[in-house]
Amino acid sequence: MLFPPESIVSKSGQSWKFGAGVAVQFAGLGTFYWCMSGDEPSPLLALGSLAVGLVTTFASWFCVKCERCGARWLWMAVSTQSTPDWLPWLGRLTECPKCGYGGDPTTEQPPP
Ligand SMILES: [Zn+2]
Repeated sequence: MLFPPESIVSKSGQSWKFGAGVAVQFAGLGTFYWCMSGDEPSPLLALGSLAVGLVTTFASWFCVKCERCGARWLWMAVSTQSTPDWLPWLGRLTECPKCGYGGDPTTEQPPP
């Protein structure tokens, strides 16, 4: 479990996006090192895997977002919190910091 169940990321069903992003980033980094450390280094494949890792990082920043107001929670976390704190900060979010959306469509109130 990447985020606590009460976290807005879990409640809105988006923790898989973060998990998939991290998995692809590690796969990209692993491929990069594997390409550069072998007997026959393959710089082109290494650069490609690095690019995939970077694109996935940026994609996950913009894909984990509020379903109501579109606030990008992961981007807010990495851009407003210091380096060791952004992940716990994101895990502690129980509602959208911008609009108060709680992640549960059944109890959802329309925006004023
Ligand atoms: Zn919101």
